[in-house]
Amino acid sequence: MYDVIVIGAGPAGCTAAKTLAESGYRTLLVEKFKLPRYKSCSGQLIKKTLELVRTHFGEDVPDSVTCAPSESRGMILTDDKGNEYRFEQQGLNIQRSSFDEWLARKAEQSGAELRDGTSVISVEEKNGAVEVKFKEFTEQAKFVIDCEGAVCALKRKLLKIRPSVVTTYQTFNEGTADLDYHYFYAYLQPELSEYDAWFNVKDNQLVLGVSVIDGEKTALYYERFVKFMTENHGLKIVRELKTDRWIMPKILSGCPIDCAVGRILFAGECAGFLNPMGEGISAAIESGFSAARAVAEHFDDPSAAARFYEESVKPVHTYMQRQWNFTARLSDRFKGMKS
Ligand SMILES: Cc1cc2nc3c(=O)[nH]c(=O)nc-3n(C[C@H](O)[C@H](O)[C@H](O)COP(=O)(O)OP(=O)(O)OC[C@H]3O[C@@H](n4cnc5c(N)ncnc54)[C@H](O)[C@@H]3O)c2cc1C
Repeated sequence: MYDVIVIGAGPAGCTAAKTLAESGYRTLLVEKFKLPRYKSCSGQLIKKTLELVRTHFGEDVPDSVTCAPSESRGMILTDDKGNEYRFEQQGLNIQRSSFDEWLARKAEQSGAELRDGTSVISVEEKNGAVEVKFKEFTEQAKFVIDCEGAVCALKRKLLKIRPSVVTTYQTFNEGTADLDYHYFYAYLQPELSEYDAWFNVKDNQLVLGVSVIDGEKTALYYERFVKFMTENHGLKIVRELKTDRWIMPKILSGCPIDCAVGRILFAGECAGFLNPMGEGISAAIESGFSAARAVAEHFDDPSAAARFYEESVKPVHTYMQRQWNFTARLSDRFKGMKS
């Protein structure tokens, strides 16, 4: 019997596992893929995220997980009417696979047991504990913190829901563009995507992405975006190197969050935390930490743990709502997000 099983070694899961192990709880951190695992991400760590890493992991993000240009200077956003807004902020440009592995190893060093390449098939509360089923064995824990990310297959099964999602598609290319590679560029013009389109650079590869509600329209929007970048920003693609497709939760007005069901707490993207333009790592770390604290403070009382978690995660929720409200004022596309 574990005290806590944490599902998913992303930023939310690693923070939760590290916090619990440090407090002396017998903690198992389970990750479906072998580490370092791939996660589609622009890898922009904003100042807030860097501070959270320092607070919860006791160190600065190491140079070994950054990619060129390592310094991120902020975001340049073009709204749906073509107006440009600059958000200057010092941050880091990282590779998610190595960043997340670094977080997972830190959790392991704090005493959490880490099992990668191991997928959880189901979770079910039974007789004052949670039964966690894997393909070939079953484990028990007093609590589960579910940090399985946007796909959230386990949460869907538990709550019998089908959350709305946004499909993201990005390509990595050899080439050049007349833009400052230290910035992340987001475009909200409706002809370029059904959500947002973006440009950034990782280790000299130009990343071009579009996100859509209707996955069938990905190619249409992507072609338009490449044409737009070619005509407006001197984009020259020499060779396409790779592509990836992912999903993100489609945040609804009021930013609803699923905090817990019985002894199972949800954190990170799986709970519904995501800021506009896809900045989700800070909310994952904060909610992972809050869920772990709730379990540690109320280990013998699951209802009190759920209440404590809901209360302590409110500032993250409010921050997320504030950011969505701000984006709603910038763009008609997100005006339904105003609460
Ligand atoms: C294209 C794109 C670009 C983005 N860019 C940024 C950015 O620049 N900056 C930023 O802050 N955020 C960005 N985000 C958002 C960010 O990636 C997420 O918000 C963040 O990863 C959420 O962290 P998490 O720990 O909740 O989930 P994840 O990081 O998704 O981790 C979940 C983990 O759970 C594992 N898992 C899933 N199911 C199981 C199972 N059944 N058993 C065991 N393990 C399981 C998965 O393999 C995964 O490792 C981006 C997202 C996308 C799609």
